[in-house]
Amino acid sequence: MSFISGKDMLKHAYDHSYGIGAFSAHNAETILAILEAAETKQSPVMIQVGQKVIQTLGIEPMKVMIDSFAKDFTVPISIHLDHSREFTQTMSAVRLGFQSVMFDGSSLPFEKNVEITRKVADVARSLNIGSEGEIGKIGGTEDDISVDEKDASITTTAEAVAFVEETDVDYLALSIGTAHGIYKETPNLRFDRIEEVAHAIQRPIVLHGGSDVPDEQVQRAISLGVTKINVDTELRHAFSKGVQEAFTVNPNDMVLASSLGRGRAKMREKVEEKIDVFGSTGKAGEFKNKEYDVITLK
Ligand SMILES: [Zn+2]
Repeated sequence: MSFISGKDMLKHAYDHSYGIGAFSAHNAETILAILEAAETKQSPVMIQVGQKVIQTLGIEPMKVMIDSFAKDFTVPISIHLDHSREFTQTMSAVRLGFQSVMFDGSSLPFEKNVEITRKVADVARSLNIGSEGEIGKIGGTEDDISVDEKDASITTTAEAVAFVEETDVDYLALSIGTAHGIYKETPNLRFDRIEEVAHAIQRPIVLHGGSDVPDEQVQRAISLGVTKINVDTELRHAFSKGVQEAFTVNPNDMVLASSLGRGRAKMREKVEEKIDVFGSTGKAGEFKNKEYDVITLK
């Protein structure tokens, strides 16, 4: 097991022009699906703990469970808190030993978003963990919070630059043409904006709503500076389809390991597929040096 700072992980990917998948976990089986896929592909990986699972299972049980499973794996792992909208929750994650935390103040007025994100970035930096902020509204629904298409707006370069200058956050989520959830029509990423912002801020950009974005678009975005790609919806679909299949084949098999196991296998395949698309396959070995010391906060 090697936990490393999300900042170090993304810096390596940024410097070497590949992407890191930040995959959302929802239970024991989905944690294992992510870890197994990463191990098979020898890829560094981020495991995201999001608001939905925090509401249902709790932040600490998820962290403890990931830590426990991770002992059997060798690839670099970074546990990330996704879309925290409360400073106190972000600090709880820091205290629990997350290697990467997001504070999402995108629904707040700019100054307020800056104020809280800067505090998060300061704390994270002092502990050598990664911090993520968000500027611009990403459309769609995530964790019960919906952003109407008409309110979703493409982040301007000026906004992104001002936000980074004032917060010094490590990586930045932008609204660049993706949405959370399922797309009604194929999304078209704003490559012009990605390129302009990437050039201006010189740090990793985070792509939210990475599910079902055509592979060529994701790869082009990575070549322009997108480094962390969040994937949740597509993985949940794969998992759920696996569970459904199990019951279609064997309606009377109530052994949960059978149905959940089929979900886990389907999700694992999907994660492996994404790792190949993002280009992080085989990169795990490059972290095995002194520069990337294992960090322990507990
Ligand atoms: Zn998101």
